[in-house]
Amino acid sequence: MSELKRNLIGGEWVGSDRVIENVNPSDTNDIVGRYAKGDAAAARQAIDAAADAFPGWAGASPQKRFEVLDAAGTEILAHAKELGTLLSREEGKTLAEGIGEATRAGQIFKFFAGEALRLGGETLASVRPKVDVEILRQPLGVVGLISPWNFPIAIPAWKTAPALAFGNTVVIKPAELVPGSVHALAEILVRAGAPKGVFNLVMGSGREVGQALVDSPKVKALSFTGSVETGRAVGAALMARGARVQLEMGGKNPLVVLDDADLKTAVECAVNGAFFSTGQRCTASSRLIVTKGIAAAFIEALRARTAALRIGPALDPETEIGPVADKSQLEKVCEYIEIGKKEGGRLHGGERANGPTPGYYLRPALFTETTSAMRINREEIFGPVASVIEVKDYDEALAVANDTEFGLSAGIVTTSLKYASDFKKRAEAGMVMVNLPTAGVDFHVPFGGTKGSSYGPREQGAYAREFYTMVKTAYVAP
Ligand code: NAP
Repeated sequence: MSELKRNLIGGEWVGSDRVIENVNPSDTNDIVGRYAKGDAAAARQAIDAAADAFPGWAGASPQKRFEVLDAAGTEILAHAKELGTLLSREEGKTLAEGIGEATRAGQIFKFFAGEALRLGGETLASVRPKVDVEILRQPLGVVGLISPWNFPIAIPAWKTAPALAFGNTVVIKPAELVPGSVHALAEILVRAGAPKGVFNLVMGSGREVGQALVDSPKVKALSFTGSVETGRAVGAALMARGARVQLEMGGKNPLVVLDDADLKTAVECAVNGAFFSTGQRCTASSRLIVTKGIAAAFIEALRARTAALRIGPALDPETEIGPVADKSQLEKVCEYIEIGKKEGGRLHGGERANGPTPGYYLRPALFTETTSAMRINREEIFGPVASVIEVKDYDEALAVANDTEFGLSAGIVTTSLKYASDFKKRAEAGMVMVNLPTAGVDFHVPFGGTKGSSYGPREQGAYAREFYTMVKTAYVAP
């Protein structure tokens, strides 16, 4: 039996008598590792440790914070292959995607190492004589981080790195389904020199560990990524106790394909956006909104390309689409496929597939002949399922694209500058992609959505400081 991987609380590795078995979705006989399952008491200990460590870390020089984050980034990048392999084994995305995600986590740590040095304030002359005004940015205190299962290392990285860069201390609860990558990150941060209690990891369920972070008055701010349902409850609880909260939630992202689009670009954007990472991305393009002049050619080419996708184990270099992450996700996705058929959509693909090992394999499902009113076009499915919605022209395409409660990412494939410019302005989304897939973003610029997808300041890039720092205005007379 493999060694139990423990929680990190106040610089100590702490075990538990309950165990999370991390199961490989590509091969359910393969146990990736055994992880200590923490509870609310463990979360409270971690919060206390983070509170104790806060004054020291907040007062540490930016150089010290730079060194820790930079060293963590260096180690992540040096071991991206190994970390990516662990990630793909526990989550099911392909090895190339896993290594890509681990690399991104390393780049994020490097970026925020620099941000630790760059954080500054402003000085203005007061409207009163002989007074100066200083606008300072200060850390918040203990920050709680709750992450979902679909980006096991990138999301923990893009929350942890800015939190630490700006002088906060952290308690993180990863999704119970994928504790391995964050555990590896915790080991790296210890080796990188994070002082005891600055970064704490408590693995366990949302109901116990997550809720303890939500409820603790010592947690001054909480950054959550996950479903709308959980996010809204988390947000309401944090607001009720006057704490700061940032929510990144679901998507139902449109990819508009206009008559003047380059067909090959359109098909590649659709396949990548809808089905890569097994469609389990908040930025996945699940609605393909296509104008009538190109619809027939687009559907034919997309069907052929989708049917040729190689489904298989995440670590097989030939695999283009890995398995769904777990049994309950697979069941949920299959239920939606049934709903789509009952609603009158015409299904292509979407069958359970056999792999060489027992896993949650599913062929990507493409629905044609759908309308915007159907449930499959309104609710986030979060799997390899996409629908084609045919429209008459650009105006209708834009209206359908915006006909959703979500607003994370929106894409358009067109050779028309006029339509691309208009779409950039009028698409109701936090991110707009022109001739690019809706998923796949840079690490150094803001990430986030509008409408039901996000709440609070943006994550990533320099904008991350808006959430992880408090602005203080000081008036100084000589
Ligand atoms: P989820 O079920 O909402 O879970 C997210 C996290 O919240 C998990 O760590 C979960 O713990 C925890 N949690 C559950 N109940 C809680 C509670 N009462 N209090 C505190 N925490 C609690 O979401 P998911 O299924 O993991 O992730 C998929 C969703 O994430 C999709 O909707 C996707 O669109 C969204 N997502 C959004 C973004 C973005 O940036 N907008 C990025 C990636 C994913 P458990 O371990 O118990 O599950």
